[in-house]
Amino acid sequence: MHLDSKLPRVGTTIFTVMSRLAEQHRALNLGQGFPDFEPPPAFAEALQRHVRDGKNQYAPMAGVPRLRQQLAHKLSRDYGAPLDPESYITVTDGATEGLFDTITAVVRSGDEVIVFDPCYDSYEPAVLLQGGRVLHLPLNPEFGIDWQRLASALSPRTRLIILNFPHNPSGAVLSPEDLETLARIVRDTRAFLLSDEVYEHIVYDGREHQSLLRHPELRERSFVVGSFGKTYHATGWKVGWVVAPPQLTTELRKVHQFVTFSTSTAAQHAFADVLEQQPGLVHELPGFYQQRRDRFRQLLAGSHFRLLPVAGTYFQLADYSALSSEPDLEYTRRLVVEAGVATIPVSPFCETPPAQRLLRFCFAKSDSTLEHAAARLCELRPA
Ligand code: PMP
Ligand code: GLN
Repeated sequence: MHLDSKLPRVGTTIFTVMSRLAEQHRALNLGQGFPDFEPPPAFAEALQRHVRDGKNQYAPMAGVPRLRQQLAHKLSRDYGAPLDPESYITVTDGATEGLFDTITAVVRSGDEVIVFDPCYDSYEPAVLLQGGRVLHLPLNPEFGIDWQRLASALSPRTRLIILNFPHNPSGAVLSPEDLETLARIVRDTRAFLLSDEVYEHIVYDGREHQSLLRHPELRERSFVVGSFGKTYHATGWKVGWVVAPPQLTTELRKVHQFVTFSTSTAAQHAFADVLEQQPGLVHELPGFYQQRRDRFRQLLAGSHFRLLPVAGTYFQLADYSALSSEPDLEYTRRLVVEAGVATIPVSPFCETPPAQRLLRFCFAKSDSTLEHAAARLCELRPA
C-alpha cells in the first residue's frame, strides 16, 4: 500500500549520510558532530550505579526532580535567571525532542516560522508536519542576524522565530547588544522565540554565552533548549531540556508526554550527580576545545583551505574554492572516497545554495585523528 509522504522533500539527514559513507570507506570522520573520545569515567560509573540501585522504571514525566533542581541552579548561576524547576524546566530526549515538542506546541496550520540560514536540519520538517510555513532568512556574511531583514520579515503571521547561537555550522555567537536589538524588534509582535543553545558552554576567547535567559523580557516569550550531549562528550545519552515560562511549559508538556512521556531515569540521575558533584566541569570546556580549535587550524595552515573564524561550537567552516569548483555535495563525497576524510557540506543547511564553497569540519576529535586528517587534507592540490 502506498503512503503519500508528509515530508516529500526530506531525505536521510546529511549527518547520517556522511557517517555511513565514512564507515564504508574507512575514512576519518570529521563530519557528524560527536566526540571520538569518552566522557569522564565517573559518568559511566554513576550510570551503572543508578541502574544497580533500581532506577529502572519511568522517570516523572517532566524529569527527575533533583536533575531539574540542579539545572535551575546552573541556569541561575550562569545567566542570572531565577527559575522554578517545577514550572519552568522539562527534561527531554535530547535537544531534538525539545525542539520538536516546542514547534508542535506552538505552530498551527498556516503559521509562519522564521529560521536563519545556514540552519540546523531538524527545524523545518517539524514545522511542516504542523502545517506551518518556513521563512528562511540568510544570516549576514559574518553569520550574524541581519536585524533590518528580520524586522521587515515579521508579520502578524509570524508565530515563531528559531535562533541557534553558538551557531551550527559557523560557530558565530550573539553579543549582549544582539539581545537588546532582538527584544526591541519582537516587542510588539505575537512571535515566540525558540533558542537552540546546545553549544552554550563552547565559546572561545573569553566570551560569555548570551543566553536568551539573561534577558527578562525575552525570557517571557522564549523556549530555550539545551543538551548534555555536547557539554559532557555524551551525545548518545540523549538527555536535554527545555526552559520556558509556566504557561508555555504547560503546553509543551502536553506534547512531551505523548512523544516520549519521559527520559531515561538512570541517565537523568547520572547527570544530576555530575551537576551536583562537579559543577565546575563546564568551565573547563572552552579551554579544552579552544586548544583543539587552535591546534586544528594550525595543522591546516599549510593547506589550500581558507579557514573562517570560529567563536564557538566545535565546528570549523572552510572555504575550498582554491581546491575545486565542484558543488559542496560532490566535493565532500569525493573527499571521503579520495582523501579518506569525511566532512559536512553546508548547502543542506540552506534553502538556496550558499554563495561561498564551504564545508564543515568537526574538531571534537582526538589529537591523533586531527593530525592524520590534517595530513591528508594538506596533501590536496587544486584540480
Ligand atoms: N541543535 C543543534 C544545533 C545541534 O547541533 C544538535 C546536535 N548536534 C542538536 C540540536 C541535537 O541535540 P541532541 O543530540 O541533544 O538531540
Ligand atoms: N548535530 C550534529 C551535527 O551537527 C548531528 C546530530 C545528528 O546526526 N542528528 O553534526
